Amino acid sequence: MFTERVLRCCDCAGEFVFTIGEQEFFHNKGLTNEPKRCSNCRVVTRLRRSGRSLETLTSAICAKCESSFMLPFKPLGYKPTYCNTCYRVYRAELETTRQASEGKHPIAMTV
Ligand SMILES: [Zn+2]
Ligand SMILES: [Zn+2]
Repeated sequence: MFTERVLRCCDCAGEFVFTIGEQEFFHNKGLTNEPKRCSNCRVVTRLRRSGRSLETLTSAICAKCESSFMLPFKPLGYKPTYCNTCYRVYRAELETTRQASEGKHPIAMTV
């Protein structure tokens, strides 16, 4: 089974959590390497590779856990911004409430 691990970013030397969800994602993709960068530096690296200007990079504060993180675009203002971790939790909750409100599909194991 997977357990959360704390890794060190090779760019900013900051610590970041390699979450269980991410480990599962890596595993499913057949990736054996650990991520070398924190999510902020990953955004920066991706932008550099895509040749886009870093000017669009905006630092934002997560509306939920209040940690600061980088966004590859300017936030629109009318939506709360969530960091990757909180966004994932938010999506999972959304999924659960939708299933619950539909009512027709009881949560059950299907064969
Ligand atoms: Zn970093
Ligand atoms: Zn957050």
